[in-house]
Amino acid sequence: MIVGIDLGTTHSLIGVHDGQGGRLFTNAYGDLLTPSVVSLDGDTVLVGRAARERLVTHPHLTAATFKRVMGSDHEVKLGERRFRPEELSALVLRSLLADAEAALGIRIEEAVISVPAYFSDAQRKATRTAGELAGIRVERLINEPTAAALAYGLRDREGEGRILVLDLGGGTFDVSILELFDGVVEVHASAGDTFLGGEDFLEVLLQAFAADSGTDLKQLPAGELARLRQQMEAFKHGLSGNGDSTLQIALLGTTVQWSCTAERFETLAAPLLQRMRLPIERALRDARLGPGDIDDVVLVGGAVRMSMVGRLATRLLGRLPLRHIHPDQAIALGTTLAAGLKQRAIDLEEVVLTDVCPYTLGIDISRVDERGRYHPGYFLPVIPRNSVVPISREQSISPVSDKQKVLSVGIFQGEHPVVERNIALGRLDIPVDPARGGDGSFRVRFTYDVDGLLQVEITDTGSGRKHDLVLQRSEGALDAEQIQERLAALQALKVHPREHLPNVALMARAERVYAEYIDNRDHVQAWLAHFRSTLESQDAARIAEQREAFTAALDALETDA
Ligand code: AMP
Repeated sequence: MIVGIDLGTTHSLIGVHDGQGGRLFTNAYGDLLTPSVVSLDGDTVLVGRAARERLVTHPHLTAATFKRVMGSDHEVKLGERRFRPEELSALVLRSLLADAEAALGIRIEEAVISVPAYFSDAQRKATRTAGELAGIRVERLINEPTAAALAYGLRDREGEGRILVLDLGGGTFDVSILELFDGVVEVHASAGDTFLGGEDFLEVLLQAFAADSGTDLKQLPAGELARLRQQMEAFKHGLSGNGDSTLQIALLGTTVQWSCTAERFETLAAPLLQRMRLPIERALRDARLGPGDIDDVVLVGGAVRMSMVGRLATRLLGRLPLRHIHPDQAIALGTTLAAGLKQRAIDLEEVVLTDVCPYTLGIDISRVDERGRYHPGYFLPVIPRNSVVPISREQSISPVSDKQKVLSVGIFQGEHPVVERNIALGRLDIPVDPARGGDGSFRVRFTYDVDGLLQVEITDTGSGRKHDLVLQRSEGALDAEQIQERLAALQALKVHPREHLPNVALMARAERVYAEYIDNRDHVQAWLAHFRSTLESQDAARIAEQREAFTAALDALETDA
């Protein structure tokens, strides 16, 4: 059984395709969404809801949003231990796998995992390593918008038409254009902005609040700023729900009240909406299509709940967007479909999925000016972005001088004409024999497969000798031996039995409420002590009953506060 996993920045989901359709699994708390947060409690790891509570009470032992540093050497320190982002992701994956295994009653060994279309080679490899560290084989990495389009495309269409997917998450915006015909799903183009998301809309509101109320956000103590951000987030959600929203908050000892209409929010956000146009236009241009060629527009990601995003899509593309699949679930459902395709699940028998390479891959070259001088550091594309993968392409190059002993070819990804501004993937150094004959040129062949693995082959046209390099391992990534070491270290960490997790999360929540609200502390502490002693009784029915009552008490306390 191959599972599909949406390994998200803020939360993650897991599911399977059961031959009829995608089915997502709930975690130990009964939720489909597991917060992508990891916390250490001694030698025990907590993942998800309990860990998220501990962001407030135990920030030094808790990690969140580590997807942002995937593929880098950045290590997160939790207490005395250091974790790489792929290890933290592996812990989230393990928790998801435990939920799926509990539901299915079998051990899971393979998965399809979604990644942002803009993930670089290093970030994709780190995601694969996370899978290995979680004890599974990653059958395939699928681009998130491709997954979302699959979820819509394969469910609603008879297998024809072009779909444009807009994915606006917390921090990134992705656009993809896919075509379905005769059971083939083909991605025509992806584009995006990796620094544009729901967070920026929040920032716009915070700045307007600061200006209106004369608050200098930089002067606020960290705790007050965090509380303001939290309340503003709820305020923003309110604006997308029923129109207007009012905020009341105590800052630096005085109560400030602020309100904003939906119209004003849209005016404030106009520059952000303007930025959203660019990737949409670029994707259409790359796919050589006009708005009229698109049959369906699909919205995914939490931030598309803002109605102005739907209106922008309607204005630009001339049709009402679809959003009937829950925007938080579309990607996960798509990954289950991709997993179903791998397994050849019954109702997907005829479907073939193709994907594109989301960025340009090339090499560094020197340019000759009109006076015959060489200027190094320029980028020569070999595989242009949005080429359908798998793909193999060739370019010819020549050494700059007859006396050159070595040809050093740098391999890069990116869209900048100056190679330094692109991402370096590797380098091949080839001996040059001055007496080798031929026309003196070399052929550089790039072969890129569906998982985003790049193979580079350089042939000396004179001697016919070939040199190759498989870019399996990027700078800073773990090698096979290091993966084994980290795997053993992760396995030494304990996890709570699944059935105890709701109790663990409830206690973590009570501790957070105790830390956050100075009123009612006695009350919370008494509840906590009482619940601890009930847990010792090991009476499952009593524990469940009290958990419910305690949860209701905390709910009431948090809504009144
Ligand atoms: P995602 O990464 O897809 O989960 O998207 C998270 C983003 O969606 C965050 O920036 C949230 O603020 C935003 N979001 C979630 N729900 C709403 C809502 N009801 N209204 C506006 N933005 C929302």
